[in-house]
Amino acid sequence: MPELPEVEITRRSFAERIEGATVRQVRLGKPLRWPLGCPAESLVAQAVGAASRRGKYLWLPLERGGLLMHLGMSGSLAFSEAPPSPPGAHDHFDLVTSRGTLRLTDPRRFGAVVWSPALDDGPAAKLLATLGLEPFDAAFDGEHLHRALRGRRVAIKQALLAGDIVVGAGNIYACEALFEARIDPRTAAGRVSRARCDRLAQAIRRILSQALALGGSTLRDFRDAHGMAGSFQQHAAVYGRQGEPCLVCGTPVRRIVQSQRSTFFCAHCQRR
Ligand SMILES: [Zn+2]
Repeated sequence: MPELPEVEITRRSFAERIEGATVRQVRLGKPLRWPLGCPAESLVAQAVGAASRRGKYLWLPLERGGLLMHLGMSGSLAFSEAPPSPPGAHDHFDLVTSRGTLRLTDPRRFGAVVWSPALDDGPAAKLLATLGLEPFDAAFDGEHLHRALRGRRVAIKQALLAGDIVVGAGNIYACEALFEARIDPRTAAGRVSRARCDRLAQAIRRILSQALALGGSTLRDFRDAHGMAGSFQQHAAVYGRQGEPCLVCGTPVRRIVQSQRSTFFCAHCQRR
């Protein structure tokens, strides 16, 4: 599943190249998770603005409204300056512009491209309403995290994955951040102290920065718009290392399942 770093890397791969282009044609393939929400022809002749990201959504502003895009479970967006090639079986959206073609390839079709009158209006506002803070937002710190976790009985790992406190701490990054902050992933969220929340907020930011620097993780068959595979997973301290020695203390890394997701942790370094 593309996580926040992959989505951000995807954005960077085409944002500058498509800004200022004019939409020439829109081609829809098989239905995606949600319908486009406007006649495809109505997008033609509109100018494209600067693409931004909110959580794992990308927003491509047009002259009238814009397109909110999500990669779902298996989607990837690629921008090509070459004349558009015939769409393949899994290519379900093409935005053909004067500068090139932005194409969504999505075998499982959980991704979506949705027109919205504005980012803070219509379907976009609805879809983004429950998102937590951006991890690199100055407002996201230990104090915010501690306040948001108060009273929550769910395990800290699950509280992070929910994405309503902070976005971006997907499974691999949540495991790694909890290891770095030395917090047992099973700890009740509301029992994580303020000092540990400080460490955790810092760890989330550092891990996501590292993932961005490495170009995203190599989970599944993620490819960004340049066809580049990332290498975050090769640098993971606990994720995917079940039975291997902890890099800090040598204790074998454990794997458990929380809400049907694998959690990797060191039972010695990470405490409740
Ligand atoms: Zn350890």
